[in-house]
Amino acid sequence: MEKKNIDWANLGFAYIQTDKRYVSNYKNGAWDEGTLTSDANVVINECAGVLQYAQTVFEGLKAYTTEDGRVVCFRPDLNASRLADSARRLEMPVFPEDRFIDAVVQTVKANIGYVPPYGSGATLYVRPYMFGSNSVIGVKPADEYQFRVFCTPVGPYFKGGAKPITIKVSDFDRAAPHGTGHIKAGLNYAMSLHAIVTAHAEGFDENMYLDAGSRTKVEETGGANFLFVTKDNKIVTPKSGSILPSITRRSLMIVAKEYLGLEVEEREVFFDEVKEFAECGLCGTAAVISPVGKIYDHGTEICFPSGMEEMGPVTKKLYDTLTGIQMGRIEAPEGWIKEIK
Ligand SMILES: *Cc1c(COP(=O)(O)O)cnc(C)c1O
Repeated sequence: MEKKNIDWANLGFAYIQTDKRYVSNYKNGAWDEGTLTSDANVVINECAGVLQYAQTVFEGLKAYTTEDGRVVCFRPDLNASRLADSARRLEMPVFPEDRFIDAVVQTVKANIGYVPPYGSGATLYVRPYMFGSNSVIGVKPADEYQFRVFCTPVGPYFKGGAKPITIKVSDFDRAAPHGTGHIKAGLNYAMSLHAIVTAHAEGFDENMYLDAGSRTKVEETGGANFLFVTKDNKIVTPKSGSILPSITRRSLMIVAKEYLGLEVEEREVFFDEVKEFAECGLCGTAAVISPVGKIYDHGTEICFPSGMEEMGPVTKKLYDTLTGIQMGRIEAPEGWIKEIK
């Protein structure tokens, strides 16, 4: 398939309809064989479980072109197992993990003309998701489900360099202890919308959420995990049962240890100690790492020594190494790169 005529470098992060998407339905206790379709619309009953009680979970990953021209995805097996964990928590049937990877491969292959070229900074964002599709009026899990995968080309996350952002300590909570913060479910996002719209209106880029139980420990933002760098170059990431286990963050911790020889710690991080760190970044598929320059906490500011002009040096090294691995410039650990062929 020929490349689509798209201005890759100037794409934003918005939905653009592509040619094909994957659909599989669950009915009478089993998933059907699944198929690709050109129909981008979902038709479900007005009383579908997803519409009434938000029974839906999702994933997000990227397909992109490597330096040597291969189209690949990064660690899709971890997206498959995380979707399975999310489904179990919301009493949904698991879509088999090997079939998840096959569905992603089929969808990307069927839209290969939308995979941005190497060096453009753009990627093909892949969105697997599933939802309760039959009517449910009493509060209980649906009996029928739909699993789908679509993809949409998205532009470079950082246009003109990765400028550090300013975030605020939120007065809202993202996730309850023993709740659903650790799964990738739309419900966690619905309730974060008011908090992010408020933060934006106040001039901040993101929210830092503290643990809802004691409000003394750092959790994450609405859609990215924290990484901190200590003054003696140790990598620290918060540990909590209500943080979504970011694949980017888990990969960066391995990169820090195995490729850069840095000490890494996953532990509780008290907000009180944040001012002692040298660098701070947010990790997720979209940006890999977004540097944080400043944290605003009710009238007090924490300004990291790395400043507001560029990424801190250790964050930069982590960023360059992981993106190098993803783009095929640096040898990847076994099993990290899934080629689409
Ligand atoms: C998806 C997500 C992340 C980032 O995870 P990646 O696997 O690195 O993309 C972080 N926090 C939340 C709440 C998320 O939903």
